[in-house]
Amino acid sequence: MKRILILGAGTAGTMAANKLQKKLGDEWDITIVDEDENHYYQPGFLFIPFGTYEPEDVIKPKSEFLPNGVNYIVGKISKLDPAANMVTLEDGVELGYEHLIIATGTHPTPSETPGLEGPEYGKTVHDFYTFEGSVALRDALADFEGGRFVINLIEMPIECPVAPLEFAFLAEAHFRERGIRENVEIMYVTPLDAAFTKPVAARHLGSMFEDRKIALEPDFYLERVDTDNKKLISYDERKIEYDLLVTVPMNMGATFVQEAGRGDELNHVNVDHYTFQSTDYDNTFALGDAANLPTSKAGSAAHFAMEVFVPNFVNYLKGLPRM
Ligand SMILES: Cc1cc2nc3c(=O)[nH]c(=O)nc-3n(C[C@H](O)[C@H](O)[C@H](O)COP(=O)(O)OP(=O)(O)OC[C@H]3O[C@@H](n4cnc5c(N)ncnc54)[C@H](O)[C@@H]3O)c2cc1C
Repeated sequence: MKRILILGAGTAGTMAANKLQKKLGDEWDITIVDEDENHYYQPGFLFIPFGTYEPEDVIKPKSEFLPNGVNYIVGKISKLDPAANMVTLEDGVELGYEHLIIATGTHPTPSETPGLEGPEYGKTVHDFYTFEGSVALRDALADFEGGRFVINLIEMPIECPVAPLEFAFLAEAHFRERGIRENVEIMYVTPLDAAFTKPVAARHLGSMFEDRKIALEPDFYLERVDTDNKKLISYDERKIEYDLLVTVPMNMGATFVQEAGRGDELNHVNVDHYTFQSTDYDNTFALGDAANLPTSKAGSAAHFAMEVFVPNFVNYLKGLPRM
């Protein structure tokens, strides 16, 4: 039996497993691996800090979303050897494959920014890009009575590029509802030259910031964070003080991608932008946030990409021309 191995049972990997199992039936052996038994609904991380969602609302067992007939292995992928068609898990288990789909996403990596990680992370420095981060931020927000509240987007690309903006507007509404808006100065600090990347959206979002008295600090390329003195410092030596910092750390793909030499500088897999096929190995594909595609890193983008990927991948397996 020919083996298809899918790495990562998040949004993209789960969709691929479902759709390919339906198309290919029992002809192919499909295996999917993920280190976590639980699926976390990441858009929900935006709402936990404000109490709209409870932490348990965003967690479901991954097995609920995987079809019968797909083998599901729980384990951390520690090594990819593309020349040998072999993946090794942390516990030493080796998984061979004929065709590989990498869908291990991208994740916040605060260790990439000098000063950001440390004893203040989870106290005066928070993120809402992880489950643990959004729960800790909920508690910090509940205790926050006033001061300068800074939201800092460090570098693109990030998952869901609009999420930091949504967070800023939700935070502004939250402080208003609590009756402490007058005591809170909100700043949105970004390396972009406006609130958002696209000009029309940037114009509208910029005026929404003005209406809500959210100060925008554009073109801010963060060099380091001085958590002792609660300051962001840019490469051009601008300094921004904060009382509570909400950071969107640099997003990076899985380390095994980098170690296998298959990624760009952020460990996102180099793929053909139309077929999602690795530019280095014919039998390897990457989907969702794990791929270095020039699209938003978003579940919706992965969903639409699937419409192109699945028929093309099936044709590739059958040796037929692609769309
Ligand atoms: C705060 C926030 C809000 C968002 N809002 C939206 C929104 O409104 N709309 C939208 O479309 N998108 C949104 N997104 C983005 C969306 O969640 C992601 O783009 C989507 O989940 C990407 O799917 P993926 O399968 O590529 O990666 P993921 O869903 O992240 O899945 C990757 C999987 O790989 C596994 N994995 C990684 N490394 C390893 C390893 N070494 N070993 C084993 N397993 C591993 C992980 O456990 C995970 O299950 C949001 C994201 C965040 C953080």
